[in-house]
Amino acid sequence: MSKISSREIHLASRPNGLPTAANFTLAQVELEPLQDRQVLVRNLFMSVDPYMRGRMNAGKSYIPPFELGKPLDGGAVGEVIESHAREFKPGDAVTSNFGWREYFTASPKELRLVSREVQPLSVYLGALGMTGMTAWVGLNLAEVKAGDVIFISGAAGAVGSVAGQLAKLRGCRVIGSAGSMEKVMFLREECGFDIAFDYKTGPVIEQLNLEAPDGIDVYFDNVGGETLEAALSALRVHGRIIACGCISGYNDEKPRPGPSNLSNMIAKRLTMKGLIVRDWLDRQGEFEKEVGGYFRTGKLKNKETVAEGIGQAVSAFIGLFEGKNVGKMVVKLGSA
Ligand code: NDP
Repeated sequence: MSKISSREIHLASRPNGLPTAANFTLAQVELEPLQDRQVLVRNLFMSVDPYMRGRMNAGKSYIPPFELGKPLDGGAVGEVIESHAREFKPGDAVTSNFGWREYFTASPKELRLVSREVQPLSVYLGALGMTGMTAWVGLNLAEVKAGDVIFISGAAGAVGSVAGQLAKLRGCRVIGSAGSMEKVMFLREECGFDIAFDYKTGPVIEQLNLEAPDGIDVYFDNVGGETLEAALSALRVHGRIIACGCISGYNDEKPRPGPSNLSNMIAKRLTMKGLIVRDWLDRQGEFEKEVGGYFRTGKLKNKETVAEGIGQAVSAFIGLFEGKNVGKMVVKLGSA
């Protein structure tokens, strides 16, 4: 293998509040020659995800923090360039956790072969990847079934847009909130939501009461904050909450007080279940069969917003907190 030069994004400093470009550096590195049992991969797409913001803080969470001066990591899909392992051959498409860089070497167990028949390959970061699986897991966790009225926040994002489409396929009445009229139209016209509203145009509780005057059975929480309070008020007796994310608080420098109306949990005998998608990896095959089937038969759309080149990765990541994406935010690093 001739020497490969690659660019990668390092964490330069820990952000206070909303990250800025100054928290990151773009570094040029030369890859070590390929060893026995190693595979050289060129990334085609990488994922930027809200959970990465938590890993930029120093404190330990359910996954370790990113290290200063080291490359970030995260979901990616790439193609094998050279292989010293029998499991992979040049041209294979693989997913990995080696995002935020153009090229990398890895051992076979750090790679997963995926079919090139699915196009674009970035689907493996969206509807058929971690975010799609999060949507599927959330609906299973709350045993969402036909006839349920489900409210989904962050509905036009990667998790929310898949959760809403899957809930429609299960026979639910689906309500979504998102941060612009363009996103509201996407939910209504492309994802089949029954109702969608722009949470920025008025208090969420007023809009939710207007759209679901008889209440909701399930709340799929991607944002927390004011929207969680509104859902606690709107939920019916024995309602269920899927605690998936709380992006409205990820850049807070001081933790906010919890919902002022948490006593609804008692009065209405509500259930709130938290999920971490990686706990469900033993169900990945089942997810891929069901959701892959919907995708291949055109019943599920994988909407995405694509940033071009590693130089745009940081702004794509920051854009998640500014609502810049419709569907899954991905960064294209190369062509297949
Ligand atoms: P999205 O694709 O939904 O992107 C983030 C979106 O969040 C933005 O587009 C924006 O949309 C919205 N947003 C940003 N800031 C705010 C705010 N202050 N208040 C309300 N909405 C805001 O991201 P994902 O689909 O990847 O993730 C959605 C949620 O699911 C996140 O909270 C994430 O952490 C969580 N998650 C949890 C997992 C788990 O295992 N528990 C796994 C994967 C994701 P808008 O324009 O509508 O404001």
